[in-house]
Formats: sequence, structure tokens, C-alpha cells
Amino acid sequence: MASLPIASSQDSKEMSKFAFELLATSRRARRGRLTTPHSVVETPVFMPVGTQGTMKGILPEQLITMDCRILLCNTYHLGHRPGHEIVGEAGGIHKMMNWPRSILTDSGGFQMVSLSKLMTLDEEGVRFESPHTKEITNLPPEECIRVQQNLGADIMMQLDHVVHTLTTGPIVEEAMERSIRWLDRCEDAHTKDEQTIFPIVQGGLNMELRKKCAEEMAKRAKVGIAIGGLSGGEDKSSFWRVVAACCDWLPPHLPRYVMGVGFAVDLVVCSLLGADMFDCVFPTRTARFGTALVRRGGQLHLKQARFANDFSPIDDRCECHSCKTYTRAYIYSNIAKETVACHIVSVHNLHHQLQLMKDVRQSIVDGKEEAFLNEFLNEYYEGGSVPGWVHDAAQHMGYTIKQSRGEMEERKHKAKHEDVVELKKEKKEVTVA
Ligand SMILES: [Zn+2]
Repeated sequence: MASLPIASSQDSKEMSKFAFELLATSRRARRGRLTTPHSVVETPVFMPVGTQGTMKGILPEQLITMDCRILLCNTYHLGHRPGHEIVGEAGGIHKMMNWPRSILTDSGGFQMVSLSKLMTLDEEGVRFESPHTKEITNLPPEECIRVQQNLGADIMMQLDHVVHTLTTGPIVEEAMERSIRWLDRCEDAHTKDEQTIFPIVQGGLNMELRKKCAEEMAKRAKVGIAIGGLSGGEDKSSFWRVVAACCDWLPPHLPRYVMGVGFAVDLVVCSLLGADMFDCVFPTRTARFGTALVRRGGQLHLKQARFANDFSPIDDRCECHSCKTYTRAYIYSNIAKETVACHIVSVHNLHHQLQLMKDVRQSIVDGKEEAFLNEFLNEYYEGGSVPGWVHDAAQHMGYTIKQSRGEMEERKHKAKHEDVVELKKEKKEVTVA
């Protein structure tokens, strides 16, 4: 299939350092290749999240072994510790964390929602109060880009006005319009050709606002574009419909990054809907509680006593180092006591996500994504019924799901909720970790 050049009307030195090719398409799904100054990224891709320039329980070398090509790092956390000036002095985030491949940094905007008690916002920008030092930090769009340029990631995210997914009323439109104005200010402040900015489509669950925003952001996007403001507790029916609509409206030559998506079923459905990039803390966060991600049944809670004398690997089909080396019994024996168990499960969980995306990509190349979807759902829901929203999304795409329709919502939400409750007990920074 012919490759699509990245935006022709806005050619610049910046664009010559990035490229996105569509290698194959099947129905709405796209198998692509994004080239950045630091690596070639095969899409659809899952991007692991390294909160503070480190992956919890994982070394960059291990991610290389897994053939991970791109990471997401949190600007907000790096800005606090070690501080973006220090990262800049160290030669940038790639050098500082010994990661030679692509990095995407977020804007810190998501923290507006998660730390909203600590925030004020006006046209000028966002103001945070540090939960640790009570120091006030001003974050206008220009500063957001200055900080991200110091960090040096390949892909920077614009500062956007994030409202909670379930918010309704005039504020949703106001935030969407402001996000467009802030993108323009971000671009004016952007000076480095080896870095690019992804605009973020906002507009809540309102399709008219989403459409207007998608059109405005597409006019301005150079290399890629994000679909933001989802995965915030909206119902799954709204979730997939917004992703589907945005993918329909956005131009094909730009990779589409759906922010905050990491549950296996969401990754599969969104990839088939035409999305190309995803990120989530879920695989590493859930590993901290001894939950391993598996194809058969979705999750294994390795803290359960039934694993005490189970000498099989986490997943006997998994090729990761943890599964080749350790047993469920070993993980069970030290899960609450030693960080080594967290490390073992984190390695497995990230490998699981990357392998899942590899399988999704192959199914698109082979034009066999319908068979893949059915096989995946059959394992994930262990032959039981499949949630109605997955059926609806599949029908929208022209696929038939063989399993019966169940009315349950995505059950991983429950697991996520339990993790959050547990995190609160541990007095961690629940919403920002
Ligand atoms: Zn494994």
C-alpha cells in the first residue's frame, strides 16, 4: 500500500524528521509505521508509562529486550522531580534515563483533572499548588512547551483544557475552544525541529463539539493527533462511539492517539476502529498488587492462596523472561513482602500488552482481524458472554461476534476500582501515579 506523506501544506524541517506510513488497512483498522528522530514505531502501538522517567519495576534495557519502541513520560512528575532544568542539563530525558528510542511527554493537563482541588485555570493558563511544598506553579501553554522542550521528548502534547469526562454544560464547549487557542500558543512557543506537538481533540461526549474540534485540530496537526478526555469513567457505549466518530473525521495520514487506554479489550476494539496509539499506567500499576494480565480470562490475582503451590508460569504461552524463569508459587510467596514479585509481574504485563498489539498488527496485515477479534474475546471472556458495547462496536465495523451478548459493563473497571481503593489505603498519589 502506498505510503501517505505527512501534511504537505505545512512542510518544515520538523516534518522531515517524522513520517507516518500506512502499510496496510483492513476495514477501519490501520497497520502503520511512525518514524521519529529516535526510532521507528510499529502501529497500532501501546506506550508504557514511565512516570518519573522510570518505569516502576522495570529497567529501560528490559523494555528494549521486549522490542518496546516508544514510552510516555509524565511532564508534571518530571517537572517536580528531578525538575526539567536538571533533565535539560543532563542532556535531555533520553540520555538521562538511558532510553535511546522514542518518548512522548504529556502536557501535565491530565493532572488538572486528577489534582483539580489544587488548580485554578483561566485563559492565561493553569495554576497548580504543589501537594508537597504548597508552592504555586504557573503553567501557561508557552511554559508547557518550554518545559517539554527541555525534557526533549520526540512527541510533546499540547496544553489542553481538560474537563472531567462526565462534565456537561457550556464549560465543555468553552474548554474545547480554549484548547484550540492554547494549541496555537503552544505552536508559537515551539522552536525545536526534532520535536513535534500533537494537538488533542476535546469536546466531551458531545459529538458536535468533537467534530468541530477534530476539524480544527486536523487543520493544525503536523505529525499526529490525539483524542483526549476519555477513559474518565464514561460509559463504554459513549467511549467507543466517540473514538469511532473521531477516527472517521480525522485525516488518514495522521496517527491517532487515544489517551489513557490500556485494557486489552479496549486496545483491540479501538485498534479495529482505526486508532493507532495508546497509553495507560494500568499494566504496571496493577502489577504492584500482584495482578497479572493474561489472554485467558484477562487477569490472574496472584495474591490468592490457590497459587501457593502452583508451579506453572504466569502464562504458559508467554515468551517473556518472567514466564520463562519464575512460577506463580514463587510470585505468591513474596508478593506482599518483596519488590521482586512486582518486578516479575510488571515485566510480564508489559510484554503481554506489547505482544497483544503485535498480534493485532499481524491480524490487520493478514486481513484476518475478524477471526482475531473472535478468538481474543472467546479467551478473554472464557467462552462466556461478551459485553453489549463490544457487540455494538463490532457491528458498527461490520464484524460478527460469535459469542452471546451480555449486558455487563467492562469488568476490568471493577478491578481498576479495587486497585484504586487499595492504593488509597497505601496513601499513595492515587490519581497521578
Ligand atoms: Zn510472561
